[in-house]
Amino acid sequence: MKKSMFKILCIDDNQNNLFTLDSILNQLEGIAISFALSAQEGLSTLLTQEIDLILLDIQMPEMDGFAAAKLIKANKKTSNIPIIFLTAVFQSEEFKKKGFDAGAVEYLTKPIDDNKLLNKMRLYQRLIESEKQLREQKSYMQKIIDLQEQILIVIDETVIFSANQRFFDFFDYQDLNEFHRHHNCICQLFIDEEGFLPSNFSESEGKPWLHTILKYPEKIHLAIVKHLNINVFMMVNATLIDADKELYVVTLADVTQMHRMKEQFRHQALTDELTGAFNRTKFNAVFEAAISNSDKTGFTLAMLDIDHFKAINDQYGHLQGDVILKELVTLIEDNIRNEDVLARWGGEEFMLVFFASMEKIIAHVEKLRLIIAEHPFSGMDDVHITISMGVGGYSAGMDEDVFLKEIDDALCQAKQSGRNRIKVIGR
Ligand code: GH3
Ligand code: MG
Ligand code: MG
Repeated sequence: MKKSMFKILCIDDNQNNLFTLDSILNQLEGIAISFALSAQEGLSTLLTQEIDLILLDIQMPEMDGFAAAKLIKANKKTSNIPIIFLTAVFQSEEFKKKGFDAGAVEYLTKPIDDNKLLNKMRLYQRLIESEKQLREQKSYMQKIIDLQEQILIVIDETVIFSANQRFFDFFDYQDLNEFHRHHNCICQLFIDEEGFLPSNFSESEGKPWLHTILKYPEKIHLAIVKHLNINVFMMVNATLIDADKELYVVTLADVTQMHRMKEQFRHQALTDELTGAFNRTKFNAVFEAAISNSDKTGFTLAMLDIDHFKAINDQYGHLQGDVILKELVTLIEDNIRNEDVLARWGGEEFMLVFFASMEKIIAHVEKLRLIIAEHPFSGMDDVHITISMGVGGYSAGMDEDVFLKEIDDALCQAKQSGRNRIKVIGR
């Protein structure tokens, strides 16, 4: 990185003194010197140029060095510039004190000791140079942080300390004060939903969302936040950066598109392409879960098969057969409860899982059979489609393969005994 010049402003009403200073200071490297023959001239130079250090004579006509120093300290733009007083006259301790009170960092007496002045200059040059570098680095870091697509904040247990531009743009706050007027925690922007980071926090429990992330750093943590009235899925990360102060860097990355794609893939993986009903994979998962839960709630399974579907395909064509399959799924879904599950088992066979005892379901499936038999399927004129079903109630401890076989057998019996009917296991 290129070093910038160390800029010194010398203010003295005596041209000879300025010449002397110039010849001494020119022994330094990397400096630029400006001169002013009065306090007023010096003040106007300070307003137009960036100055790093001021060498200020005290005894000057009109405005003396003390008065000039007061004005320099009072101005925000110049208040941090170190001032070194130079004087031949005001050597007493009392004046030194006055100089320091006026904001001086040094008080040198004339005739000036060349080496002493040079050493002081070198010291301030180094000091100011490293301050400048720090400031620059800080501003570069801020720029890099602001360039991030992610929202980035630094928090402790109570407040947000700093945030990048993306945070303010996304949540539409002018500054952190405005944010804190509305919220105590970033989590108040989270929308509570199962499987997502929670919005609650309190003095006693702290921030459950943060604890979850820190406890399971290897997991992906998602939060839902509202943005322009739509739900945005954010991947949230938190890292401890200062253990003493309990400071954390938290990032929020918009993963809405990824999340939607994942949901879509999952949906596709679990549904039957033609009918939109759940597929066998999903059925297996539902069936397994229902079995594990059967000691608490029993369930009823129905296996359903379209009667003489081959003949319908033969007569009306395969495409028409597809139309019937789709319409049948819609019809069944319209006539079962939300919690019941319909899945395509294969071909023209379907499984129905009812989360209720068989006694409660019998009348229901009988009604469903009638609804189907009476339904005017499109493209079928007066021809009606019927189905047969094998139905059974599962109770805890039953062997699942045996149970499935019994259901299948019941369906066969329904077919054999004339179709368009329901056969219940053991009846
Ligand atoms: P049953 O009353 O004994 O069940 O007679 P069925 O004709 O319905 O039974 P079968 O098992 O002999 O024939 C099933 C038919 O279902 C044959 C097959 O072409 C048809 N099928 C299976 N899947 C589809 C599909 O996705 N679309 C269409 N259009 N037909 C299908
Ligand atoms: Mg069949
Ligand atoms: Mg059939």
